Amino acid sequence: MNILVLNAGSSSLKFQLIATDEAAIAGASDRRLAKGIVERIGGEAVISLSAGSARAETRTAGLRDHAAAVSYVIHWLTSSESGDGAPIARLADIEAVGHRIVHGGEKFTRSTLVTDDVRLQIERLIELAPLHNPHNLRGIAAAKAALGDGVPQVAVFDTAFHQSIPERAHLYAVPYQFYRRYGVRRYGFHGTSHRYISYRYRQLTGTARADTRLITLHLGNGASACAISAGDSVDTSMGFTPLEGLVMGTRSGDLDPAILDFIATKEGMTLHEVDSLLNKQSGLLGVSGLTADMRELLAEAKENGDRRARLAVELFCYRVKKYIGSYIAAMNGVTAIAFAGGIGENSPEVRAMVCEGLDWLGISMDVAKNDAAVGTEVRFDADGARVQLWVIPTDEELLIARDTWRVVTGAELQ
Ligand code: ADP
Repeated sequence: MNILVLNAGSSSLKFQLIATDEAAIAGASDRRLAKGIVERIGGEAVISLSAGSARAETRTAGLRDHAAAVSYVIHWLTSSESGDGAPIARLADIEAVGHRIVHGGEKFTRSTLVTDDVRLQIERLIELAPLHNPHNLRGIAAAKAALGDGVPQVAVFDTAFHQSIPERAHLYAVPYQFYRRYGVRRYGFHGTSHRYISYRYRQLTGTARADTRLITLHLGNGASACAISAGDSVDTSMGFTPLEGLVMGTRSGDLDPAILDFIATKEGMTLHEVDSLLNKQSGLLGVSGLTADMRELLAEAKENGDRRARLAVELFCYRVKKYIGSYIAAMNGVTAIAFAGGIGENSPEVRAMVCEGLDWLGISMDVAKNDAAVGTEVRFDADGARVQLWVIPTDEELLIARDTWRVVTGAELQ
């Protein structure tokens, strides 16, 4: 089945067309037929498109909204300009659409068919995800307009995997009525990524779901850690919003909440402005004063000896290390730790800094294997180490496509 995977952001639309079915899932032979991204929707959009494994071509077009962007993508996929003379897919071959939806609240614990009621529920959750759910809904409306009611759409939620986190780990120690009245609790995000990494780890190692005791580290621009016990998420570092937890590109991660009022008073800012500062001007960018980009920071620290670039990297790695320690305590041990995301997959240096000084916990890496692990699935713990170390590149789109196939065909979700 050809499945169009959509991830609609505020002014962007990422897509992939993936062919999958039962046999493909069993044999990991799903095919990525095309992928791309439309940016700056609302004006002269910049569109990057690639068929199969071909290099991306970039073009521009005036696209006023998400509906226009989805139409454009579908037209490209189904016209002869997309493939080598023949279209990548016929319109009738796009049999289902899978959407990345950021917030599913407590309502959605698994991927689900989009019905009028589901759409309404996602709309109700806008209060909790004002920056994401409205755009995700636009993606759903645009796909419906372009493909009609006959093509089923499936919602795959970033929060769903974390709904198994027990109360003691998802509640905040604030007056309980804020949870009851407003849903103030840890939801966690990146759930599709953590779930994929966990699934892939089980597949690579032949581990049964019930025996999985794993820490997954999604380290990209946004970053989060997840403790996975018996296949379920039992804790994660992002919280009520994606601001909590690890140090990120521009987000502070954990801090003393009293700092908000203190900064607001000192700087004459509103709490809303401070919140924005913690989301957009903090993290690696805030500490270094240079950039949110880890690769640039590592280069600055190495080539120019920039002290604050080095410090930003150290803060980042130290925070990851602390989460590893706390999740080992939460799960009474760990079998494996898996790194993913742009930083986790590509930076041996960051992985080395994270793992350094954890040998007491049975964590030690093979330096040569770590150095060689860039963007590929590799196990890199030292001989005799108690804890397995893995790089497992994440693939959220693949999981969205597979979930979509499962929901549409009634197969069991895994
Ligand atoms: P997003 O969360 O936006 O999807 P990514 O997962 O693509 O982000 O991660 C982006 C981050 O990965 C950036 O900080 C980038 O510098 C970093 N990164 C990519 N390649 C490397 C590399 N080779 N070494 C270190 N960091 C890298």
